[in-house]
Amino acid sequence: MAIEGGCFCGAVRYSATANPLGSMVCHCRTCRAVAGAPVVPWVTFDKSAFAWTRGQPAILKSSSSVTRTFCSACGTPLGYENAGTPTEIDITTCSLDDPNAFPPTHHSWLSHDLNWIRLGDGLPTYPKSKLDAENG
Ligand SMILES: [Zn+2]
Ligand SMILES: [Zn+2]
Repeated sequence: MAIEGGCFCGAVRYSATANPLGSMVCHCRTCRAVAGAPVVPWVTFDKSAFAWTRGQPAILKSSSSVTRTFCSACGTPLGYENAGTPTEIDITTCSLDDPNAFPPTHHSWLSHDLNWIRLGDGLPTYPKSKLDAENG
């Protein structure tokens, strides 16, 4: 069963044919600035199971290795691609048609967090990315 989602206005839609590889909440300052929101939840899809199915998102290079995408008509943040993980695409959890489908398993980049954010979900937190923590 396909997993569907898209932007607020409907100009850009996507579909995935396999469940996400991961689901997390990012507290980094770049996600915050790009989304205009204190935190941004993401799900990670294997690119081989993911496709844009209507329209094409606009592209923002937020760093030398990171490409972010959003709807140029309504502004919804949609994608994140990192040159270091070329087979994966992160998609904003809240652009899924069912944002409840794949709840986050952890919080990343707490080192960038705002001082008024209070977590109450009991999930693991990492000062940077989970991968950084696992690699020591
Ligand atoms: Zn849109
Ligand atoms: Zn982030």
